[in-house]
Amino acid sequence: MTRKEALATLHKFYDAVSWQWFLPGVSQEGKTLKEEVQTALRTLDIAVHGKQASCTGFGFGLCKICYLRYSVYTVLLKGDTSGYAYPCCTRCLRTLVSERRLERLEQVLTGASSAVLIAPATSHARRKAVHSCSH
Ligand SMILES: [Zn+2]
Repeated sequence: MTRKEALATLHKFYDAVSWQWFLPGVSQEGKTLKEEVQTALRTLDIAVHGKQASCTGFGFGLCKICYLRYSVYTVLLKGDTSGYAYPCCTRCLRTLVSERRLERLEQVLTGASSAVLIAPATSHARRKAVHSCSH
């Protein structure tokens, strides 16, 4: 297992268990631990992937599906009722398309079960966003 794969596994583990820290009635220790784990993952992201991993937002930071590469796209997944848009790398996007887990853009307007594929930022927008990153 490479360092990137090990870190990706920790991210996926966090995603799998972190929901409990958002429930009402979570203890102060739980809140503190959640923040420490988030900080620890962010610290390791930067150590393993570089400073850009600390950036969040459209087309930046790590792919939130595989956590192995930087994201290029932002996608909504079919059947994901959270409405959460995932930063997504090119390889994961290809997989999602081949597995038909994305819908066309226009369908996002008609129902919650749809998904959207947002085109990557233009080079101008990317430069602008990188410029706005604090790192
Ligand atoms: Zn990915």
